[in-house]
Amino acid sequence: MSKFYVVGTPIGNLEDITYRAVRILSEVDLILCEDTRVTINLLNKYGINKPTMSYHSQSKLAKLDKIIELIGEGKTLALVSDAGTPTISDPGSVLVSKIRESYKDMEIIAIPGPSALVSALSVSGLPASEFVFFGFLPHKKGRETLFKEISQTERTVVFYESPHRIMKTLDSLKKYIGERKVVIAREISKIYEQVISGTASETEAYFLKNKDKIRGEFVVLISAK
Ligand code: SAM
Repeated sequence: MSKFYVVGTPIGNLEDITYRAVRILSEVDLILCEDTRVTINLLNKYGINKPTMSYHSQSKLAKLDKIIELIGEGKTLALVSDAGTPTISDPGSVLVSKIRESYKDMEIIAIPGPSALVSALSVSGLPASEFVFFGFLPHKKGRETLFKEISQTERTVVFYESPHRIMKTLDSLKKYIGERKVVIAREISKIYEQVISGTASETEAYFLKNKDKIRGEFVVLISAK
């Protein structure tokens, strides 16, 4: 029976991929990618020449059925996202669930690799044995409720944020978490990698003074209540 691999890929630096991930991607029949153009860069770097097919959050049910059909034909597939571990604030869980439902005995194998949330925790200095991960915060509905929840959380809090919303988020955090420590891990494994820490007010002041740093990719961490 065919196998299905969920493969972690780099979150910036293309060297951050395991030997096993490179081997598996070289061996499968087809690679399912969030954006084939992004994954092609990685495949080219490692001389991997395998067919790709897009599978992303907008993919229709017909695409899901097509994938299930390919597995039924005995094809071995790998799933990757644009960066990091598929399904972590990325597409894939619906597909994995559907495969489990359709082929009860099929092996679905994790090929561990980077994830921004784990990398950020590892350099944050915050307790990381227990933490709560909120993914991306909602933009409107539920946002205030979530900040209230964060304000009460007795574990390290982690979430993903975009450069467009980071200032708005820090502004809200001032109100909800007071003097608790905020750590912002930015552009992990890339040229402008940076970790900034302080209270919400201090980190906000830093970005107001250094507006050129309000770009790239951010993970926000907050110390426990
Ligand atoms: N699946 C990915 C993972 O395992 O980390 C996360 C995908 S999610 C769509 C993308 C978000 O992850 C970005 O908006 C940012 O918050 C965070 N992220 C991804 N790469 C990052 C990096 N190199 N540095 C900091 N944050 C990053």
